[in-house]
Amino acid sequence: FSVLGIETSADDTCAAILTSERKILSNVVRSQHSYHEAYRGIHPYAAIEAHQRHLPDVVRQALQDADMSVNDIDGIAFTRGPGLAGCLSVGSNAAKTLAAALNKPLVGVHHMQAHALTVFLTSPPEEAPEFPFLSLLVSGGHSLLLVAFSPTNFRILATTLDQSIGTAFDHVSKMLDIPWIAAGPGASLEQFAKTAVDEAGSDDIPFDDIFVTPMKNRLAFSFSATESQTTTFIAKKGGLQNIDTKTRVLLARAFQRGAARQLEHKLTMALKRCRKDGVNIRHLVVSGGVASNSVIRERLRACLDAASPDEHIALVCPPPKFCTDNAAMIAWASMDRFLSGDTDDYSVELISKWPLEEFGTSLTSRIA
Ligand code: ATP
Ligand code: FE
Repeated sequence: FSVLGIETSADDTCAAILTSERKILSNVVRSQHSYHEAYRGIHPYAAIEAHQRHLPDVVRQALQDADMSVNDIDGIAFTRGPGLAGCLSVGSNAAKTLAAALNKPLVGVHHMQAHALTVFLTSPPEEAPEFPFLSLLVSGGHSLLLVAFSPTNFRILATTLDQSIGTAFDHVSKMLDIPWIAAGPGASLEQFAKTAVDEAGSDDIPFDDIFVTPMKNRLAFSFSATESQTTTFIAKKGGLQNIDTKTRVLLARAFQRGAARQLEHKLTMALKRCRKDGVNIRHLVVSGGVASNSVIRERLRACLDAASPDEHIALVCPPPKFCTDNAAMIAWASMDRFLSGDTDDYSVELISKWPLEEFGTSLTSRIA
């Protein structure tokens, strides 16, 4: 069974073709970073326009890369939510129209479920996690710590009280005036933080202690706190113009480490909570765009070892290109529904705000 997946929930225009044997026949991602660099963030109208401009070509490219005609496709999947309504509508209208015109089955996918299940697509079966597992979804729109009991049953343990970790990376990258690389502002910050600076070794950050983990007794995240610790530091120096490059690098490092430390702290608390509730966790799956950050991965690995020295908890991350938005994960998350005949009407509506805990119970009855 082959599925054409379409993803347009945020700023990447994506199409992919995947088979039920887990073969990724094509996976096209057209990033909009250059559009958004001017705004230093996602501009909703620019994002909609870019999706409208690129999607036809991206779908065409996905078919070409897979060496398939659209008639060879067995089903069409698209991101139904959550996401920016205008952006979602570009992909959903395309998917619905294609499916109706070709008389193919259609499935609307929950974007965050897709991120959480990507690992079953990218890991060899022997390394795939066993349910229940802990999942940390750290992206541009989300900072979520959850327990996955099954592919459709999730319990959210923690979310952010303000903004996502990815947004904090984006803001701090902008605040420090870090040159953007193609992979976007978060990845630019990671790279900038690696810049070698005289005297200071990689572990020597003189002002590391300003990044105090907020709400130490609660599972909830706050990345506005981590961001504003950076803002305060810069303000105390009288502005970025008074901060030399070396200090900027160290500040980027300290921010990154502060964000990682917050994740570690809450992860340790979540593991304790699971143990107390009798939920036996053997795997932590980290996905979302921020999961491609190597410092964060290393710190989480160390944290699991410290929190659970006797029983090994495996850390599983999809490869970086599957951690950020892509349509292969959308096609993958739809596969069980296609195979069991549980498909959507061509009139299915998108759901811009769609809590992950709700979606398993009301797949077809919700409206935007
Ligand atoms: P969501 O999936 O929640 O709707 P999104 O689609 O914007 O949000 P992703 O594409 O999964 O999210 O991730 C993008 C985010 O990840 C951006 O905020 C980006 O800056 C951040 N990011 C990407 N690479 C890195 C990195 N190496 N270090 C830190 N942050 C990163
Ligand atoms: Fe995403």
